[in-house]
Amino acid sequence: SGTSPAVSGASPAAPSAVTVRVPAKVNVQLAVGAARPDGFHDLANVFLAVSLFDEVTARPAAALTVTCEGPDAARVPLDATNLAARAAILLAERHGRTPDVHLHIVKDIPVAGGMAGGSADGAAALLACDALWGLGSTREELLDICAELGSDVPFSLVGGAALGTGRGERLTALDVGGDFHWVFAVADGGLSTPAVYGEFDRLTAGTEVPEPAASPALLAALRTGDPAALAAALTNDLQPAAVSLRPSLTAVLDAGIAAGALAALVSGSGPTTAFLVEDAASAASVAAALTASGTCRTARTASSPAPGATVQ
Ligand code: ATP
Repeated sequence: SGTSPAVSGASPAAPSAVTVRVPAKVNVQLAVGAARPDGFHDLANVFLAVSLFDEVTARPAAALTVTCEGPDAARVPLDATNLAARAAILLAERHGRTPDVHLHIVKDIPVAGGMAGGSADGAAALLACDALWGLGSTREELLDICAELGSDVPFSLVGGAALGTGRGERLTALDVGGDFHWVFAVADGGLSTPAVYGEFDRLTAGTEVPEPAASPALLAALRTGDPAALAAALTNDLQPAAVSLRPSLTAVLDAGIAAGALAALVSGSGPTTAFLVEDAASAASVAAALTASGTCRTARTASSPAPGATVQ
């Protein structure tokens, strides 16, 4: 499909709007290596998609515009730094066309919460524009653009569960043998991912940081679908750094365990905290207890695995 003419406007056969639904993620293992000379860290990152979703709708427009609705919409940039806009621009460039599209984001994924909400919107916008513009990109081509957009973006496209290596962007799909239930405690304000990595570097300076590797016990727990085994295997090497920058997270983690969660951890770079629970009923009671504890802004229940970006 490399011969599309550089003209704007939809062809008569093109759809008038395409909506894509895309999940948030939780890292059930985030193993971080020492800082490389280029400043990035090698990771062994086990992603699990969870049932909190954003929706991105692409419609033809005179020029690229982005709008957003949802409780956190005010914190989402609407300019060309929005990952959805960047995805549209990159896809258009590859096909020698103008990104003449309006992208509307219905945002339900917490913003700057370590749940890859921006990455999700990037993957969703890419898939939506590809369909709107009738480009018919292959999965490989889309994954390639995702990796250029950011390390968490390829996983948002594929969903399910996957092991990410390199900077986290090289993915291997993982088997999941059952549903897992979660509660996510959303904090006030965000934590900047680069700031959390900076704090990780500060905390680990002068120590021997082991090579990151996926935990066999964790992969086995995912395969068997056993929540108690998964609870025992959850790890996040960024957690000390996130807690160091936001000491109040300790009280949230403790409140979830006191309320009956099997395990608690910081989600990715935080400040959202994730609680693995036994079943949906336990999720509801832990969420209620967390909300009542006053240690977080709100608590959300979700299950996993969830499918990746999907045209509605
Ligand atoms: P990750 O887990 O991938 O590190 P995150 O979940 O912590 O990311 P995001 O919600 O992706 O954080 O937002 C991080 C920052 O990215 C926001 O503060 C915002 O400035 C910017 N951003 C760019 N595009 C988007 C988008 N579509 N939605 C939300 N934030 C976006």
